[in-house]
Amino acid sequence: MTKHFDFIAIGGGSGGIAAANRAALHGAKCAVVESGRLGGTCVNVGCVPKKVMWNGAALAHTLEHAEDYGFEVSGHTFHWQKLKKARDEYILNLNGRYQTYLQDNKVTVIRGLAGFVDAHTIEVDGERYTADHILIATGGTPLVPPVPGAELGITSDGFFELEDRPKRVAIVGAGYIAVELAGMLNALGSEVSLMLRREHFLDNFDAMLRETLMEEMVEDGVEILPKTQVVEVIEESGKLTLRCEDGRQNAGFDTVIWAIGRVPNCEGLNLEAAGITPDKKGFVQTDEYQNTPVKGIYAVGDVTGRIALTPVAIAAGRRLSDRLFGGMKDRKLDYENVATVMFSHPPIATIGLSETEARDKHGDAVKVYQTRFTPMFHAITQRKVKTAMKLVTVGVDEKIVGCHIIGHGADEMMQGFAVAIKMGATKADFDNTVAIHPTSSEELVTMR
Ligand SMILES: Cc1cc2nc3c(=O)[nH]c(=O)nc-3n(C[C@H](O)[C@H](O)[C@H](O)COP(=O)(O)OP(=O)(O)OC[C@H]3O[C@@H](n4cnc5c(N)ncnc54)[C@H](O)[C@@H]3O)c2cc1C
Repeated sequence: MTKHFDFIAIGGGSGGIAAANRAALHGAKCAVVESGRLGGTCVNVGCVPKKVMWNGAALAHTLEHAEDYGFEVSGHTFHWQKLKKARDEYILNLNGRYQTYLQDNKVTVIRGLAGFVDAHTIEVDGERYTADHILIATGGTPLVPPVPGAELGITSDGFFELEDRPKRVAIVGAGYIAVELAGMLNALGSEVSLMLRREHFLDNFDAMLRETLMEEMVEDGVEILPKTQVVEVIEESGKLTLRCEDGRQNAGFDTVIWAIGRVPNCEGLNLEAAGITPDKKGFVQTDEYQNTPVKGIYAVGDVTGRIALTPVAIAAGRRLSDRLFGGMKDRKLDYENVATVMFSHPPIATIGLSETEARDKHGDAVKVYQTRFTPMFHAITQRKVKTAMKLVTVGVDEKIVGCHIIGHGADEMMQGFAVAIKMGATKADFDNTVAIHPTSSEELVTMR
């Protein structure tokens, strides 16, 4: 087998596969090294299985309202194992498809853990491979806190291995993964306690989003415990107790899920041999073109500490390969105005600056439009799940610098608005767009 390549991507996840496939389409001789399953976090223990579970949870919520729409649905039963089996089969199929894409593009797949020998050489299972260009796309891994008994808990990776629905579960964390897992498990029938270190979850999101979501989650029956710093996990008679800093004890859990953040995957990469020093948090630093300080070595995706989302890793990887092999010398990813969705119940979609960030940056030039209403789906249901929207504008021309939506359908609303906002849309552009009626999204073009 050839041991020299034009381009080697270390990591067969979102960024590495996208970059290698694109480089190969430009005619480069490529390899991807993967130590686990092809597809990386997103496909195996992230976006994809998460969305399947969210779809199941959304269905459970819809069933709650079915009677208000005239259906008799009493006595339905949910089988966790059946959903898990279908989800696992789907993912196995995706793993195969990634293998096929790579084969079709003549990208060599090398199985094992890669470590640098020098800036142009890596070693995998005792074999050495050289390349003119090497990409680090090794992603991240969930963090487990250094507290006694932490090993009694699982992480989001373990959540996807659960063979049965936990009866009572504690989720420790305040980021989007913690909130999503809490919402899904609650909708699928677990009793959920969400433990936050501070007062709120989703600290970096617009306050309107997190406040509305917190109200809806509490209404849904999720127990939210603010200012709860877990310092120990104890197992007694098969149940888990969480001991907190202030002496409180929360007992009786079957499962504890740590969702307190993720750390970059640099262990075993032997970065020093390549002359790369990660930053204090372990991320590989790059410039705007994804170059590390070492010529011929690049990094994309979660390992860089930039926006940790699949489409970001893919876009950065493809642009890098366009630049290196496609003759597009200025091609790079613009990290501004990246839209994202949080698959909570109801979902959140957001792009750009929160109101607080905009006011810090632009002061009195900021003008905000917002609305909160009961969407038509809930007009005839007993429980009214609210929708809330906010547009953050700046300057006399009211350029839209932030758009935040929480509510039924928010997940599918944002992509089109993101195009307009990325193009520099103003409030007047939104106002000049004729509404689609009756929808929730029409509120975004009719706000006063
Ligand atoms: C629970 C969860 C839900 C998420 N939901 C979403 C979502 O809804 N939308 C979204 O956009 N993003 C979501 N993400 C984030 C998304 O999964 C990541 O941003 C994305 O996968 C990053 O891609 P990457 O290429 O940087 O790394 P990864 O996809 O993590 O790929 C890195 C790969 O490198 C391999 N590797 C590591 N070290 C080595 C080595 N030394 N040698 C060989 N191989 C190595 C790993 O096995 C892994 O397969 C979610 C993440 C999690 C955990």
